[in-house]
Amino acid sequence: MRELKIYNTLSRKKEVFTPLTEGYVGMYVCGPTVYSNAHLGNVRTFLTFDVLFRFLRSIGYKVRYVRNITDVGHLVGDGDEGEDKIGKMAKLEQLEPMEVVQRYTNDFHEVLKQFNFLPPSVEPTATGHLIEQIEAVKDLIGKGLAYESNGSVYFDINKYNEQGGNYGKLSGRILEDLLNETRVLDGQSEKRNPLDFAIWKNASPEHIMQWPSPWGMGFPGWHLECSCMSAKYLGNQFDIHGGGMDLKFPHHECEIAQGTSLTGQEPVRYWMHTNMLTVNGQKMSKSLGNSFLPAQLFKGDHELLDQAYSPMTVRFFMLQSQYRSTLDFSNDALKGSQKAFRRLLNGFRMIKSMSFESEDVAIDEKKKAIVEDAIEGFYTALGDDLNTAVGIAHLFTLLKYINMMYMNQLQSSALGEETFNKLKTKYQEFFEEILGLSEEENGTDTSVLNGMLELYKEYKANRQFDKVDQIRAYFKDNGMVIKDLKHRIDWAWEE
Ligand code: AMP
Ligand code: ZN
Repeated sequence: MRELKIYNTLSRKKEVFTPLTEGYVGMYVCGPTVYSNAHLGNVRTFLTFDVLFRFLRSIGYKVRYVRNITDVGHLVGDGDEGEDKIGKMAKLEQLEPMEVVQRYTNDFHEVLKQFNFLPPSVEPTATGHLIEQIEAVKDLIGKGLAYESNGSVYFDINKYNEQGGNYGKLSGRILEDLLNETRVLDGQSEKRNPLDFAIWKNASPEHIMQWPSPWGMGFPGWHLECSCMSAKYLGNQFDIHGGGMDLKFPHHECEIAQGTSLTGQEPVRYWMHTNMLTVNGQKMSKSLGNSFLPAQLFKGDHELLDQAYSPMTVRFFMLQSQYRSTLDFSNDALKGSQKAFRRLLNGFRMIKSMSFESEDVAIDEKKKAIVEDAIEGFYTALGDDLNTAVGIAHLFTLLKYINMMYMNQLQSSALGEETFNKLKTKYQEFFEEILGLSEEENGTDTSVLNGMLELYKEYKANRQFDKVDQIRAYFKDNGMVIKDLKHRIDWAWEE
């Protein structure tokens, strides 16, 4: 198995990844709260774990990837007070909460399809796991680590720390600082310590999402669902837990406290957090009003955009930075990505159509070594905490040799049959399977384009130049060019 190093938020170090069970990986990623359309910031986080899922599989692991749907319990403001995000939207739109959930779950799936994400192995919902959550609350009360107060149940941070817990260890927060930062609001007085967090909340009559429990009508706390669903499908301890950086505190900190208290085991071995997608340096978020919806991008329908961008261009744009660096969204950056992506895509089409031609040409050892090194380099880069930026640089090295062969400046036999075949299969595997990139959708079937290219050749041979120009114009209007080379006629994406 190839080496993978992961930056573990918990140890604040890059560590060599070793799974709990050889050959298998259990991975949990916090899914969306389905009260509104997924924006591009969300896409960046899910993309990181899609590529990790793909990479782990490609290097030989069997992966169980669990990504939940949060359909209850996530309150406005991420704390213990306020309305449920979904309940609030349901009231606003005069819908049944589950209609809101369904609508935005559908939207989320549609967005993931557009960006070519692989579906997770399990996609559990919080409302589908109320029994597990109620059992966990009872268990925590039984262990003396949670207490009931006015129909709500709170996790007892002081007790947890007295028993050896270290609340704050993931996010590096110090308890005293947290206490100083915490404003004690009305209603929080029912907590023993203002930092205690709700694992079950008493529902006021106007709260529309509520269920019976031993503590009266209520609903589960947001943090508890992830502890219950991850443990159910991956075990009390599992390999990788991911999410955006903004979830480190309090959400993931609380997951560690709950998981450890419930089972006596540290629930997660490697914590991974993606950095934020920003707009002019500010986190892209729905509440800040600076979020972009994928659909706006595909239509070019936004004041910051001067054109439309395809899903694959956007996917590529995000892959050009490593997941732990911030990424700023701008029209210019996307333009650059479109050009670069199309160059790689043209290479993908070219290499697919090439085959080894045995000719009496000496092997060029230097070129052969560069190709071999770039292939190894791609694996090393992705194995180095998923550095897709460096991986893509190696892909461009491979592209250079594909272009040379395409232009007849290099014979495939100069690389030797083994290296040529490796270049051909690995370029496609890196592009398609690991980075998850694919051919652009352009509304015209490839077989139709190929047919038009044949007509082009015929018209050209018959010197029907008006028809030749018409075909050229059609390709151009659709973002493509006809490459009329001495040794071949082909079409390619305009770069
Ligand atoms: P939510 O639906 O708000 O619970 O968010 C779903 C996922 O998207 C979480 O892992 C968030 O951390 C992540 N996320 C939200 N905003 C951004 C952003 N601007 N950049 C990257 N990830 C984000
Ligand atoms: Zn979660």
